[in-house]
Amino acid sequence: MSGRTRRTRLAHAGSGEGPGVVPPIELSTTFPRGTDYALAGPDIYRRDQNATVRAAEAALADVEGAADARLFASGMAAIAALFRAADGPILVQDSAYYGTGKLIERLAARQTITTFPIGDLSALSAACEAHRPALVFIETPANPLITVTAIDEAAAIAHSVGAILGVDGTAATPMVTRPLEHGADIVAHSATKGLNGHSDVLAGVLATGAPSALWDRVLEARAVEGAVLSPFDASLLLRGMRTLALRIAAMNESALHIADWLAAHPRVLRVRYPGLPSDPGHDVARRQMEGFGGLLAFEVENAAAALRVAGRLSLITRATSLGGTETLIEHRHSIEPSWTGVPEGLLRLSVGIESVGDLVADLAEGLAALD
Ligand code: PLP
Repeated sequence: MSGRTRRTRLAHAGSGEGPGVVPPIELSTTFPRGTDYALAGPDIYRRDQNATVRAAEAALADVEGAADARLFASGMAAIAALFRAADGPILVQDSAYYGTGKLIERLAARQTITTFPIGDLSALSAACEAHRPALVFIETPANPLITVTAIDEAAAIAHSVGAILGVDGTAATPMVTRPLEHGADIVAHSATKGLNGHSDVLAGVLATGAPSALWDRVLEARAVEGAVLSPFDASLLLRGMRTLALRIAAMNESALHIADWLAAHPRVLRVRYPGLPSDPGHDVARRQMEGFGGLLAFEVENAAAALRVAGRLSLITRATSLGGTETLIEHRHSIEPSWTGVPEGLLRLSVGIESVGDLVADLAEGLAALD
């Protein structure tokens, strides 16, 4: 199917794994031996080689354009495995998903981890010279500030000191950005988000552009430490991935429409969305994104105003997470500690696949709370 489009290949994700048009769920963890004690089944014991999980991993490697991909029990398990596999200092952008920030705090006791200011490539360059990292890790677009970082430039800087570039591409999904095509070495996703797309599976994935010593350590850590995905969840993920192209196309279109609408609203002080020509990340986004994703953020006067807007919504759900079919709004300032510096009036919107007119009507109602 390699000459066919991603959308076509995704529609058949996992097919060919069994007799049906959808792959079976393999549940057995152990396989019998013969009377001579020789292996009679395909394996001895399966912790990290479950057939359903491997089918989902093959579909993920295909959509990402990767040499290999491996699923983990969550996005954080995937990122933690990558950080632990780095055999040297790690350099991470200073504003990323809050959980990554907490992971850095936790690992800093054992590993040398430093940060550089988000989106500042001169600072990245200087930090690379100063710290000689083994791994540079960025997130683009970043959650929740929606900052875009140029992957090709970050890759060139990381490679100039012999470091590997890892990119958390969760907010974009491989339908919008494929970091390996822009020079990154490893891609991480919380597959809990757009890849699965239905807010009902917790999963994480790492994908690599090429075999490497670091990738071997990732594989070994996953097999030995066992942070694997369950076959049921892999099956749900495969089902979700079959509609990935359609869902992301709808989200891209609606998010751009909503961002434009919000930017013209008198109560909105700032819209953060790379699809807007006024966004600082727009030029880079045009280079590395196809569509601009379903995640945006907008700012109103202060925390109280943000909570009034969110409280007035009736369609858009007040809930954390992103990338699902349903549009979610979140006031990150209410849940992140002050050190993350998220603006108090910022509302993050994960745009789903509802009719955009209904979403805009709901937002109009919400913002009317400020009149
Ligand atoms: N990376 C990003 C950008 C995220 O938004 C999240 C979760 O919100 C994660 C990683 C962690 O993923 P998980 O919740 O699957 O562990």
